[in-house]
Amino acid sequence: MVFNMLKKLGHEQVIYFNDEETGLRGITAIHNTVLGPALGGTRLWNYKNEEDALTDVLRLSRGMTYKAAVAGLNLGGGKTVIIGEADKVKSEEFFRSLGRFIQSLNGRYITAEDVNTTTSDMSYVAMETDHVVGLSGKSGNPSPVTSLGTLYAIRACLKERYGTTSLEGKTFAVQGAGQTGYYLIKYLLGENEEGDRAKKIYFTEINLNYIERMRLEHPEVEYVEPAEIYGLDVDVFSPCALGAIIDENTIPHFRCKIIAGTANNVLREERFADTLKELDILYAPDFVSNGGGLINVYHELLGYNKEKALADVRLIYDRVLEIFKISKETGVSTNEAAIRYAEQRIEKIKNLKSNYIVR
Ligand code: NAD
Repeated sequence: MVFNMLKKLGHEQVIYFNDEETGLRGITAIHNTVLGPALGGTRLWNYKNEEDALTDVLRLSRGMTYKAAVAGLNLGGGKTVIIGEADKVKSEEFFRSLGRFIQSLNGRYITAEDVNTTTSDMSYVAMETDHVVGLSGKSGNPSPVTSLGTLYAIRACLKERYGTTSLEGKTFAVQGAGQTGYYLIKYLLGENEEGDRAKKIYFTEINLNYIERMRLEHPEVEYVEPAEIYGLDVDVFSPCALGAIIDENTIPHFRCKIIAGTANNVLREERFADTLKELDILYAPDFVSNGGGLINVYHELLGYNKEKALADVRLIYDRVLEIFKISKETGVSTNEAAIRYAEQRIEKIKNLKSNYIVR
């Protein structure tokens, strides 16, 4: 059964690890290393069973391959999931044990923080392996950079739809004002290189502290109830909270012209990208528009330089326009165009490596 899944999704390697002493149980999936070492965070989750953990790690690691390839990085896709309850299992020895398993992969896989793991957890991992990024004192919090990349994706969408990248006169609906949504709203309010500013921003949240923070810091940003966010008559809907929010239930409500956000896996199924195309809603594929954090952390491997990292994040603008071009030329959805773009890059680099070069 596992081999069938690996074959279907195209994985290279899956590693199960178990440490009785610390209670560490998890799976690392290496999807594809044609472009470089597989990079992806470590997610800690109380999975109901092993099958759910395996499905998640296979899906997420494959997503990382596409995200890195489309961002032009020399990285492959990988991911680690650990099975357990975050507030019960975490300890120094738990994460050092993880570090030792990662070290045993000899650099084929590089980890980072993800859901329920933090920079400080990764500092324990780093005591046992060099193959970890996103440590404190290096590239820093990825969220503001992720949101900056999304701002460039939004500008590309505005250019495609209205012929101008300017935020002036445009209206926005942002779902989620946690980390990435919060920074994105700041940029939309004029804290950006161009200094332009959205005409109107609506937001929704379920965390009362974040709703209050927005009320205090930016009272002009209007709160709406979670269910209302989909039906707002705005230029841009920006999902910055959950995955799988674009489906047969939400699409009939959409009145936006553009969708571009930070959230991962926003399409419940890939076919919904075709529905958006039919409805003439311009969709910036999530794994392209939210690649800023990955691009930023990748620069740690090159010796972190903020200017260079941000220059690469800016390229998201060109990349999104390139994907729209492929979509128009081939008639496929923008999501499918981005997947093709990523697969073609991997294939081309694979061919490039067919002769032996000494360096
Ligand atoms: P976060 O937890 O800081 O923010 C998400 C917010 O969404 C939370 O404040 C939560 O209360 C809110 N929320 C949850 N359900 C909601 C609902 N139904 N309606 C309204 N609000 C709701 O997370 P984040 O770091 O901002 O990440 C957001 C998304 O972006 C995730 O899908 C994440 O995987 C993705 N992402 C984040 C980064 C990054 O650098 N942080 C990078 C790439 C992708």
